[in-house]
Amino acid sequence: MSALKISDMVGRHGLLQAVKGLSLDIPEGETLAVIGANGAGKTTMMRMIAGLHPVAEGEIALAGTPITQMPAHARLKAGIAMSPEGRRLFEDMSVRENLMIAAENGRRGDWTLASVCDAFGQITPLLDRAAGGLSGGQRQAVAIGRALVANPSVLLLDEVSLGLSPAAVEGLYQSLEGLKGHLTMIVVEQDLTRAMAFADRIICLAEGIIELDGKPQDLTRQQITDAYFGIH
Ligand code: ATP
Repeated sequence: MSALKISDMVGRHGLLQAVKGLSLDIPEGETLAVIGANGAGKTTMMRMIAGLHPVAEGEIALAGTPITQMPAHARLKAGIAMSPEGRRLFEDMSVRENLMIAAENGRRGDWTLASVCDAFGQITPLLDRAAGGLSGGQRQAVAIGRALVANPSVLLLDEVSLGLSPAAVEGLYQSLEGLKGHLTMIVVEQDLTRAMAFADRIICLAEGIIELDGKPQDLTRQQITDAYFGIH
């Protein structure tokens, strides 16, 4: 069963085509890593799936239902949640409030404040802190927790490890390991080694198209770096 099916999707920034007719079928429960150089279109692709950037052409279907025209808040209710690049949080609110708002705006399901804190132990001691005062690693954990508490069937994580300490990255991925298979994940990850170790499947974007698509064990590092730099 397809969790998410993207067909010939085009995304623009003004005249610039950032995503150029991208097609992708992601089976239920798959963990997909998206890699690619700066400006390859990764964030635009993720925002289009979340409903935060308009789909100029093409279609997106969630478990067989077309959602191409659905606004972001309705996609959250339908089961797509995203932890954005930059981990934007409501800065003046507590971590608990940030999570509660997401829970109210998402779906009902197994993920609650308590179960998210069980899965991401880093969040528990932060619940009563203002989001504005958190470190990068703490913000990332909260941003992922906030997406998760909306009970998505498709969880989008943009730039998981960017700018974080190795210890923070390690802690986050240990927690993310526990999610594998339980939901469908699309993770934008700049760290190639990390992406290969974590994902069931990797795609490499270059200038808005998929240059490479395969399972980590079937791909060589050379193939991936060539695709990354757009070398044919
Ligand atoms: P990064 O790793 O730098 O975030 P990315 O792979 O996520 O890169 P995008 O951010 O999706 O790539 O950008 C794709 C292309 O669209 C780039 O050429 C970028 O300059 C352009 N772009 C992105 N956002 C905007 C914007 N708000 N206005 C104009 N052009 C944009």
